[in-house]
Amino acid sequence: MRVLVVGSGAREHALAWGLARSPSVREVACAPGNPGTAALGPRHAVRADDVAGLADLAARERPDLVVIGPEAPLVAGLADRLRERGIAAFGPGAAAARLEGSKAFAKTLMARAGVPTAPFRVAAGVDEALAAARELGLPVVLKADGLAAGKGVRICHDLEEARVFAWETLVEGRFGAAGRRLVVEAFLAGEEVSVFAVTDGERAFPLLPARDYKRLGTGDAGPNTGGMGAYAPAPIAPEQLREILALAVHPVLDTLRREGTPYSGLLYCGVMRTAAGPQVLEYNCRFGDPETQVVVPLLDGDLGALLLGAARGRLGPPPAWRPQACVGVVLAAAGYPDAPRGGDPVEGLAEAAAVPGVQIFHAGTTAAPGGVASAGGRVLTVTAVAGDREAAREAAYRALARVRLAGGQWREDIGAATAPAASGGESSWR
Ligand code: AMP
Repeated sequence: MRVLVVGSGAREHALAWGLARSPSVREVACAPGNPGTAALGPRHAVRADDVAGLADLAARERPDLVVIGPEAPLVAGLADRLRERGIAAFGPGAAAARLEGSKAFAKTLMARAGVPTAPFRVAAGVDEALAAARELGLPVVLKADGLAAGKGVRICHDLEEARVFAWETLVEGRFGAAGRRLVVEAFLAGEEVSVFAVTDGERAFPLLPARDYKRLGTGDAGPNTGGMGAYAPAPIAPEQLREILALAVHPVLDTLRREGTPYSGLLYCGVMRTAAGPQVLEYNCRFGDPETQVVVPLLDGDLGALLLGAARGRLGPPPAWRPQACVGVVLAAAGYPDAPRGGDPVEGLAEAAAVPGVQIFHAGTTAAPGGVASAGGRVLTVTAVAGDREAAREAAYRALARVRLAGGQWREDIGAATAPAASGGESSWR
């Protein structure tokens, strides 16, 4: 089949790379893709948030499958526009993508579906938000309802902090339309785990568990980022995985199906393991970045067939995994995350890719004379597959050492045994 991948990050490069290796796939095109995906197949100059442009492109090109990487086009209804034209799409329609697009929707759906989650209120005014905070007790968590690029959540330790965040969100419009309402919810203490499942709306196959690192600096120092690295498999016991699927994935899929808005694609479920059992923090409606970059290289099978099965509502056999480990380290630009600098040459990529087991997935790169230059915050992810995590880590860092980018930033502890056990909880968050 011919597949179109929507998006331009390292996640989409990894998906395109996995698709290109699939026996079922003849051609992988990307819109808009990046210089890394250009080596795999055609690039179409349509942005990932241009839903009408992407629907027209698909209508012209007639791919057998469109794989939608980022959340914005999913929430904006790209999968619906494609299905209306008879084109198979991997990813939920707008109604089901509200699971990520609206935290208030996700919380009320969880309540209807009987999914364990923190007690909450939805507030549209500052006084209402504060009354909810008083009722729920401190610390309290305030979340902008809509898509806020990972910046819309604040753990508040006193009511003044809550008042300021509620004011900035609801009155000053700090997150625009995404902040017209707030979800106010009780704080949960525990260890965070994430589970990804590929689903056709009814069945769901968990992917290999991965762990990501959100803080910029080694040892979880510095500001929060889009993600500075990941490794797989993360040590989650199979029975834990089954418990989360039974408690948090299937009830939501069943409820959405019953309500006439079935969910298909990738369902990401963020869970806090508390003393009272697992509690769901959030759902995402797409693959994680940088987790995808370390999960796809470990897939032992046909990624195209897996995603097409989900898109068509008929999952085939569950995916199999290589008995190996993968570590991925993000190379970020100078100034990331606040003010990433672009235009610096990125050199040494061929030497880096020559390290056995290494794949480099591009994100913020652009074609430049003689190679590529930086053009975004997270520039690329260097991944390595090896027999175990330590060997994969060693190979990934050996390859990264061959890449030259002025002012480039990376963490030294991705996949290290000494790294903190979880990205969750209060201490490692903001
Ligand atoms: P979310 O986007 O809802 O997952 O929130 C982002 C991060 O905030 C999560 O990954 C957690 O680390 C933290 N968080 C969210 N909700 C809570 C909660 N109720 N209790 C404690 N931490 C939370």
